[in-house]
Amino acid sequence: MSDPNIPFDNSYAKLPERFYFKQKPAQVPAPGLIKINEDLARSLGIDSNWLGSPEGTAVLAGNQIPAGAEPLAQAYAGHQFGGWSPQLGDGRAILLGEVVDTAGVRRDIQLKGSGQTAFSRRGDGKAALGPVLREYILSEAMYALGVPTTRALAAVITGETVLRQDGPLAGAIFSRVAASHIRVGTFQYFYAQNDADAVRELADYTIARHYPEALDEEEPYLHFFKLAVEAQADLIAHWMSLGFIHGVMNTDNTAISGETIDYGPCAFMDVFHPQCVFSSIDSGARYAWGNQPNIGVWNLSRFAETLVSLVSEDSAVAIEKLEKELAGFSKRFSDQYLSRFLAKFALPPENDGALIKSALGLLAECEVDFTLFFRRLTMVAGGQDRTVVEELFDHKAKFGKWFNQWKVEAAPADRLDAMKAANPVLIPRNHRVEQAIQSGYAGDFSLFHRLNEALQHPFKEREEFADLESPPSPEEVVRETFCGT
Ligand code: AMP
Ligand code: MG
Repeated sequence: MSDPNIPFDNSYAKLPERFYFKQKPAQVPAPGLIKINEDLARSLGIDSNWLGSPEGTAVLAGNQIPAGAEPLAQAYAGHQFGGWSPQLGDGRAILLGEVVDTAGVRRDIQLKGSGQTAFSRRGDGKAALGPVLREYILSEAMYALGVPTTRALAAVITGETVLRQDGPLAGAIFSRVAASHIRVGTFQYFYAQNDADAVRELADYTIARHYPEALDEEEPYLHFFKLAVEAQADLIAHWMSLGFIHGVMNTDNTAISGETIDYGPCAFMDVFHPQCVFSSIDSGARYAWGNQPNIGVWNLSRFAETLVSLVSEDSAVAIEKLEKELAGFSKRFSDQYLSRFLAKFALPPENDGALIKSALGLLAECEVDFTLFFRRLTMVAGGQDRTVVEELFDHKAKFGKWFNQWKVEAAPADRLDAMKAANPVLIPRNHRVEQAIQSGYAGDFSLFHRLNEALQHPFKEREEFADLESPPSPEEVVRETFCGT
């Protein structure tokens, strides 16, 4: 029987047992609600008053299992920074179950940080408050920016302390909602075990859930791959147009649905540089801003490998077909990237994009803030004096040359709306996220709430949130971000 409060309708739990381990969340001593996402709850058919009540909080903390939930830890493998791990899996996450939302989309509800599972290895299965607040802010900001992403349903504190590198920290649990948690690494898990039946079953399940249109094609598995390639190309182009760096584009953090998943050491850049990296563990700059499309292709190659036997009995034929689809990434990505950046500059669709390249070169050379540059350029397009953008550059002459060319090629009068829709006023700046986290650790969530509220409408100019537009002062700059572990 399904819980009257959460209308579960589970399908992953009906897949073969080797897809997961059944696992209940751990009990925690003193659950406390930080925030629930009322709009999201409503769209999932969940009464937000109930979700915010002590009973709802007990569910969000893992202390109470709602009727209809079938808690489990999903199995997956993955390449992390290029190195192969045959078994990763949900080591600190438990899938409670699925609901079909008001738009008819099936969504996972997962608790992140709810205790050990069969996949925890040496980890405690818990989450510290900081990464929970971070994922909440970042994923909801991403949603508001229009980028496909997992969502934040709630954040609770557990009343427990978790031990991390810098000492004991307040524990918390994040409730994540996703179109699914199926990753490239989920396919790799079975492929690496030569479990062709499981790969087929997973592919059939994933097609039905995410890409049912592939079933109408002559070669559904090949078409499925093509659609997944397009989703990644679109996603990465969208990220880059906003200065977003995922930070851990491992194959286990690449969702087949095309949603952004796993907000660990990710960041929106302040000062632009194509080789910009934040993650403390990405010493080789593998996941730098400008390297993300290459990594997208690399991850999709790993995905393609798992599908070979489904595409053709003749592996040479299958590889050729998959490679052809993979080769489509480059054009798809370039087209998306170009059209997003043309919009950011109010350039018409037929423009060759040379001004984009030269502008990005100048931003890097003059160490200009990415988001602020586009915001100010939008202001100039709207009629303000050029000085608001000029003042961001040290090399006035170089800027002047670029700007004069932009004046010739851009069509702000016709394209101002598109330009505004491509250039956010607000992004979740690292130093603001960091401030919200630090005051959260001190027991004050007001900055967290304010940041969330502001980021719900990132394209709107609102006087009350103007302070959140500013880049960090030199003392505020965050140079490094960390995984949630
Ligand atoms: P991530 O890089 O955060 O996506 O995590 C990589 C792997 O480590 C996944 O299998 C996680 O489930 C696992 N993991 C991360 N943190 C913990 C933790 N605190 N306890 C157990 N497993 C963890
Ligand atoms: Mg992960």
